[in-house]
Amino acid sequence: MAGTKQPEHPDVLRVSFRDVEIEFVPLKAPEDTWGTHTVEADGISIALEESLEGLELTQTSLHETFHAIIHAYMPAGTTRNLKPGDECEEAYVDAIATGLVQVFRDNPDYLEYVYRSIKQES
Ligand SMILES: [Zn+2]
Repeated sequence: MAGTKQPEHPDVLRVSFRDVEIEFVPLKAPEDTWGTHTVEADGISIALEESLEGLELTQTSLHETFHAIIHAYMPAGTTRNLKPGDECEEAYVDAIATGLVQVFRDNPDYLEYVYRSIKQES
């Protein structure tokens, strides 16, 4: 929406028992990438292309967050058919991120319901 101020993206997300650091860096050039996640023994971090905004930023942020969720809740060895970083994980994560944005965009009452329901429980 023209004139609507972009909400501020958080620098850290709590995923399971971990703090996932988010950084905005140039990724589009030379890697031609919009977002990445890094999994290391001491944690997970996410990098997002610094020029992203609006729905593209939201969708990419959700995409990388879903990778972090998979690594946090489905550690290696328990992922059944999913292997970290493989094409199957990529396809699921991409479909869920794209689909969730569409479902929330086209069903704002549902987004409000989910938000209020979670707030009530916390
Ligand atoms: Zn991905």
